[in-house]
Amino acid sequence: MPSPNSAYTGRFAPSPSGPLHIGSLVTALASYLDARANQGQWLLRMEDIDPPREQASAAQQIINSLIKHGLQWDGDVFWQSQASATYDFYLQQLLDQNLAYWCACSRRQLAQTKGLHTGQCPHPGTPSNAALRLRIPDESVNFTDQIQGHQTRIQTDIGDPVLKRKDGLYAYQLAVVVDDARQGVTDIVRGVDLLDASAWQIHLQQALGFPSVRYCHIPVIVGADGHKLSKQSFAPALDDSHAIDNLRLALRYLQQTSAPDTITEIQALLRWAIAHWRPQDIPASRYINELSPDALHHHR
Ligand code: GLU
Repeated sequence: MPSPNSAYTGRFAPSPSGPLHIGSLVTALASYLDARANQGQWLLRMEDIDPPREQASAAQQIINSLIKHGLQWDGDVFWQSQASATYDFYLQQLLDQNLAYWCACSRRQLAQTKGLHTGQCPHPGTPSNAALRLRIPDESVNFTDQIQGHQTRIQTDIGDPVLKRKDGLYAYQLAVVVDDARQGVTDIVRGVDLLDASAWQIHLQQALGFPSVRYCHIPVIVGADGHKLSKQSFAPALDDSHAIDNLRLALRYLQQTSAPDTITEIQALLRWAIAHWRPQDIPASRYINELSPDALHHHR
């Protein structure tokens, strides 16, 4: 085994709102292969900070599915719900630096600006009745995504994101940035539906003085109805008893060369996929259409 490359730490960060489906397997596999092909670490972080959207058994199902698919992570699973004291620490730092503010705007008030909140808050609030927002400076954010190419977002495109919700829950944008930094993540491989959020996350990293990371946003799979396959849209759970077929299908979505049929073991398939990993072959589109499971057999 080559020694781990400390210059690369990747992660898979599912929200336990349901079991893994083929779309989430594609994301998990892409981040796993990219990490392993770079002799990097690959971490598993359970983003369980939104109890109303979670399913009781989903986190365990996700863990079991990853194991069945041979996607072994390094170290212990990181549970966001167990690690929230740090979020308050950084929120206070932002408040002390006047980089965040309490906003009591209602959903209806925000609807007039399509949910975007920019500039002076017309309804300032207090911690008991408001959400905490990050003040996005009047500067554009520029970054190069390894698949989607050069990206620019200006302040008025993105608005000021919520970091702590009115109901007191920590927002994803805060937790993801704090935890990527505390876990030493260098490379984020995830679905393109989070490309826009990267602009907020880069602003927040800068506001907190965290190092920047590399981004690689892979296309998301859309079903026949044109919507992203997701746990919320009840995409079918992966059948763990067909793990090797699921992995071959996921490799097809990523447009990687098909592994020889003679490979029948999961670890052998993963080793082959690591050795032949070509992120440059992943389509630079935002969407890929769902393939029927038997498309796999027709495309060998
Ligand atoms: N927890 C997020 C999700 O499941 C992904 C977070 C990320 O990769 O940044 O959609």
